[in-house]
Amino acid sequence: MLVEDLERVLDDLAPHVLTERWDTTGLLVGRRGTEVSKVIVSLDLSEEVVVEAVTGGFQAVVTHHPLLFTPLRRVTDADRRGILVSQLIAADVAYFAAHTNLDGAAGGLCDLVAHELGLLDLHPLVRADAGWKKFVGFVPSDAVERISRAVFAAGAGRIGEYRDCAYAGCGEGTFVPGPAATPHVGSSGRRERVVEVRFETVVPAQSLAPVVDAYLDAHPYEEPAFDVYPIDDVLTRGGQGRVGSTRDATSLVSLAETAAEAFGLSEVTYAGDGERMVDRVAVVTGSGGSLMEVAAGRADVFVTGDLHYHDAERAADLGLDVIVLPHGRLEAWAMRRWTETLDAALRVWSVTAEFSTRGRSRWHTVRAVAGMRSEPPGSVDEVARLFDLEQATEQEPPGTVGAAPHESVAAIDDGPPLFVLRTDGGSRGNPGPSAIGVVLEDDQGTVLEEIGVCIGTATSNQAEYQALITGLETAVDRGVRRLRILADSELLVRQMRQEYKVRNAGLKELYLQARTLVRRFDRVEIKHVPREENVAADSLVNRALDGLL
Ligand SMILES: [Zn+2]
Repeated sequence: MLVEDLERVLDDLAPHVLTERWDTTGLLVGRRGTEVSKVIVSLDLSEEVVVEAVTGGFQAVVTHHPLLFTPLRRVTDADRRGILVSQLIAADVAYFAAHTNLDGAAGGLCDLVAHELGLLDLHPLVRADAGWKKFVGFVPSDAVERISRAVFAAGAGRIGEYRDCAYAGCGEGTFVPGPAATPHVGSSGRRERVVEVRFETVVPAQSLAPVVDAYLDAHPYEEPAFDVYPIDDVLTRGGQGRVGSTRDATSLVSLAETAAEAFGLSEVTYAGDGERMVDRVAVVTGSGGSLMEVAAGRADVFVTGDLHYHDAERAADLGLDVIVLPHGRLEAWAMRRWTETLDAALRVWSVTAEFSTRGRSRWHTVRAVAGMRSEPPGSVDEVARLFDLEQATEQEPPGTVGAAPHESVAAIDDGPPLFVLRTDGGSRGNPGPSAIGVVLEDDQGTVLEEIGVCIGTATSNQAEYQALITGLETAVDRGVRRLRILADSELLVRQMRQEYKVRNAGLKELYLQARTLVRRFDRVEIKHVPREENVAADSLVNRALDGLL
């Protein structure tokens, strides 16, 4: 494919018409005639990405944030942007930006983020101008087919996923050919009345000239009649931001946690009453502060990538809670995901799209070290705390919730007694007949509860989660505040500690259920133990499966 073909594919995925007035998108550097076989995608254009493109044999780079956002007055090696542009030109690498047009596109970044949050029934927060003209032609009925084909081929009649859209109605056309005319119908000086079809369709403003040309070429009349009308049409599926509903009402804090989880964020801030139940959610990737007023009344929560501190008060005045997901992290996630869309669209050309492995945000995060003890990474045999519910979230908004465990470890010698929960789940067949084993002990090691039951057909991982959930519920019922969980499933332990992602759809629900239960304790620890140290729970599973319980 050539750069100009890539330009068309990108315009389909991120239509230029969705670009905000202040923004710069599309082909920013490069020659349209250059051959492309590999495309690299990144959030920003940095030195590292240019090096990766050039050394990795990529002929085109697509970034979300445009390098040439503000005017570039000279291209020299005296400044960073000049150097990057020179390098791209020297290596004949084309450079595209897909920014606000990609945020707002159907299947673009806002849609990807909204879907990942589980939002349904999505609509743009602000619908985009379609940038269309209405084209109306008056056509003899036997020429309608030919003319419509010609104008459609020139770019008319496309609405969303539909093409060749038009409306036609019959009427009567009248005319008197002049003395010098050579009419297709009738003769000079005689009033003519003919049946004509009023054929109307929409045309993107930039395609108007070729459409008019095509119409005139295909029309049999010497002087074809046509009108072009300005219209205030809006796109139904594209535009800034999205607003949609959660499947069920959820508390603000658990929506924030879901977001942390979904986008792998260690920290998510929110403002509002964490316990407030919400179900209408507006999403604006990037810096969405300017759209808060538009979201007021249509959403309970406004989710965006960047807000100023005092925007929390503005939001409160508008009746909105807000959740802020770090701008760069969120958009990097979304661009990575969108790269799959681009790659699929390029497949017919045998061209691939890959997400940059070297692109890095200029922003970095560090955590305070003093007074904190962190778990050595990957040491599954150490007891790791899951949650510490003395979270600021409950006390003063704006709060912070995290997907990763808090790193500060408070002494656990004081406070309520530490109970021990041993859990195991097993399946004969995977999936197959399954059972769970749960043992709850008090801080003296006295067994308070033993549960061994069959749970029907499940995978062994599902059974592990079911065991954990049953154990947590049992502990909640007994008023346990602090709990140490011992389990022999490394997957379960690592997922609960958020060292592993939960990708399996069949586990996600169970995982979230377990996470929700965990929040009902002051402190929960989870530890991986070898199977031979989990005999108490393991034997309950086997006895249940053997039909002995
Ligand atoms: Zn951005």
